[in-house]
Amino acid sequence: MIRLDAVTKRFGTLTVLDELTFDVKPGEKLALIGPSGSGKTTILRMLMTLENPSEGRITVDGDYLFHMKRGNDVVPADEKHLHEMRRKIGMVFQHFNLFPHKSVLENITLAPILTQNVSKADAEERAMSLLTKFGLAEKADAMPSQLSGGQKQRVAIARACALQPKIMLFDEVTSALDPELVEEVLNVMRLIAEETDTTMLLVTHEMNFARDFADRVLFFDSGHIIEDGPPSEIFTNPTHERTQSFLRKVL
Ligand code: ADP
Repeated sequence: MIRLDAVTKRFGTLTVLDELTFDVKPGEKLALIGPSGSGKTTILRMLMTLENPSEGRITVDGDYLFHMKRGNDVVPADEKHLHEMRRKIGMVFQHFNLFPHKSVLENITLAPILTQNVSKADAEERAMSLLTKFGLAEKADAMPSQLSGGQKQRVAIARACALQPKIMLFDEVTSALDPELVEEVLNVMRLIAEETDTTMLLVTHEMNFARDFADRVLFFDSGHIIEDGPPSEIFTNPTHERTQSFLRKVL
């Protein structure tokens, strides 16, 4: 579903990702963990085309992300191609990024109506079904400012789901929440995993959740993957001292 092939990302002289290569299978639930600044968010931002790789290639769902095939050549992608590719991926951010002057329902229906030509009635039906599933049906007409952090984040997840992406990216979606609100957001992610075959990538500091939820964990350190395996292995028997000391601190 996703392939990074020798992807390097630099910001000025800082190399954030260094010739990174990995695949993600369809339906896989992948947790990206590791110290702050190790490049995890940058990977998600590249998949959302919010950042360009400095070198290397990314493919999503069998197609180039920043490049496209033209005859036998591979050339930089045009806006139309990027638009097509972006439809495959949804992202949920740490700080929700809801539209503050739109109701909960409008937050969810706006993109399907504007970008997928879904009728207003169908978009609203889809949105209400998601809100009901996520325990928020009675908040449909509320404004984001009237919601708790956990509710805002569940709306943000519903908004991403409404576009029915093949891939969903979750960037520290519980980090801005009070501890008692974390579980309701994690439950919504569990629901998506149970009910759909969406490929899910999450950057998280919730180690217990990563252990519980992910099929596979990548541990990043300074722009490299230093561990790659099932949570049972990484959390109980990490190979690197760097991982061991990180886990000792956070678990
Ligand atoms: P992580 O998610 O693992 O905490 P990030 O991917 O957010 O790491 O960041 C990796 C490094 O890249 C950090 O040193 C960060 O300061 C730097 N960085 C991220 N985005 C930018 C940017 N737009 N310009 C300059 N440096 C950046």
